Amino acid sequence: MTDMGWDIKADVVVVGGGGAGLCAGLAAAKAGAKTIVLEKTGTPGGKTAISIGIMTASGTSVQKAAGIRDSHARHLADVKAMAKQTGTKIDEDTTKFMMRVCSAEIENLIDLGVKFTGPHPEGPHQTPRMHVVQPDCRRLVKILVAAAKKYGAGIECNTPGAELILDHHGKVAGVRTDGKKGPRCIKAGAVVLAAGDYSANLDMVTSLAPKLKLAPPLRDFATGDGHRMAMRIGAQTQNMERINEPHMRFTDWPNVEPSPGLIRAGAKLVTGKGIAIKTRLTDTVLLPGFEKRWEDIYIVIDAKCAGKLATKADDIGPGRDGWRRTGKPFIGTAPKVGYAYLEDCKGWSWHFEAKTIAAAARHLKCKPAALSKSLGKAAEGPFHILGPVQRVIANSGGGLATDQKTRVVAKDGAPIDGLFGAGVNARLLSYMGGHGYALAWAMASGRIAGTGAAAHAKRAR
Ligand SMILES: Cc1cc2nc3c(=O)[nH]c(=O)nc-3n(C[C@H](O)[C@H](O)[C@H](O)COP(=O)(O)OP(=O)(O)OC[C@H]3O[C@@H](n4cnc5c(N)ncnc54)[C@H](O)[C@@H]3O)c2cc1C
Repeated sequence: MTDMGWDIKADVVVVGGGGAGLCAGLAAAKAGAKTIVLEKTGTPGGKTAISIGIMTASGTSVQKAAGIRDSHARHLADVKAMAKQTGTKIDEDTTKFMMRVCSAEIENLIDLGVKFTGPHPEGPHQTPRMHVVQPDCRRLVKILVAAAKKYGAGIECNTPGAELILDHHGKVAGVRTDGKKGPRCIKAGAVVLAAGDYSANLDMVTSLAPKLKLAPPLRDFATGDGHRMAMRIGAQTQNMERINEPHMRFTDWPNVEPSPGLIRAGAKLVTGKGIAIKTRLTDTVLLPGFEKRWEDIYIVIDAKCAGKLATKADDIGPGRDGWRRTGKPFIGTAPKVGYAYLEDCKGWSWHFEAKTIAAAARHLKCKPAALSKSLGKAAEGPFHILGPVQRVIANSGGGLATDQKTRVVAKDGAPIDGLFGAGVNARLLSYMGGHGYALAWAMASGRIAGTGAAAHAKRAR
């Protein structure tokens, strides 16, 4: 679409108000640009707000305060060892860049008032590097919204970005929105795409990964709008076929993925009718179709099983290390604590403790006889009922190809004039080993994109 007359003018327009978009808006506004953040839904936050809050980083002040000596060099050595073990090629320059900016992001967020616990031990890393946002990422989003507004960024909810507008030279010159105020064209010196992933876009999912077993998306706003807007003007994409395998998650906040270790410890899976499900937690449960959700599933932990799980008494510290030292299972990685134990679940809506099978059946609204048969004669109270869990596609992993300045590049590798990407919309190809980089990258790339977009807009004025 080309220039067609403007309803409003801004220096920087950010499409998407999740972690990446809010950081981009904050950075652009702080650099003095007139900034508008467009958010499709009624509230900013996106997947960032429901994220567990894990950030993997090295050489941070949080590590130092816990008496842990670490450096990017040690971190890189661990990543290289992981890459060797899995036979993965590593682009060292990009991995180093990601490590540097993601680690620096911890300090940037601390400066804004965000708190972290940890570092907790994590996967094959030799040093504890798991930092966890406190108390959870809903607070992180609140802090980002307040900071962006403080610097004058406008955040417009219920206002989806629909299309990029090009000028007569093919430069990105603005965005068409289709929100509650009707269709509007916003002129922009630069645009940042930060509209999240495409796991809820059935057409994209089925065409990009035809063999993937379908499941409902965890959140339906993730329709890949940023990817599509950029692809329509010739942007290059990377790893678009990477879409998370459907897996189980609690449907209510916090959307924890239950650990497969629970089943090994003797936890039982039952339907809402109390009927046993003959599957392991890691098994793929086939769904009748994308639109029909598999019925709710509950995890039942009896007293014997509970006795095999890690507890706070197993921790020595500084982080949650009891599960690792003892090999006892935890419930899942979770906000606030990093690794949740049964005692952490007590305040969450998806946890219920019942002294007897009759009380457990009342909670599930099923027949006690059915539940008793599913749990077996040896089952002993108290019973912890966790659920419902459902199989969902939580995320997709592909993105727009960008350079280290997060400028979106065209198929020929040249930056598209005036277009930046952030978060899931900006993907630098690199192997990092383990998890906990997506969230930090959302903030770091948002900050880089917002700063770059403000400078670009200033030059274009
Ligand atoms: C349950 C869960 C837990 C996770 N935990 C972790 C973790 O602990 N550590 C980690 O590193 N990663 C984690 N992730 C991944 C991480 O949360 C995401 O990669 C990251 O938050 C993405 O940030 P984003 O800003 O790119 O996208 P989002 O936060 O999803 O923001 C995108 C925003 O764009 C909006 N939008 C969409 N289309 C439009 C449009 N057309 N116009 C305007 N707005 C639009 C959406 O409504 C949304 O608000 C988790 C993901 C999930 C689902």
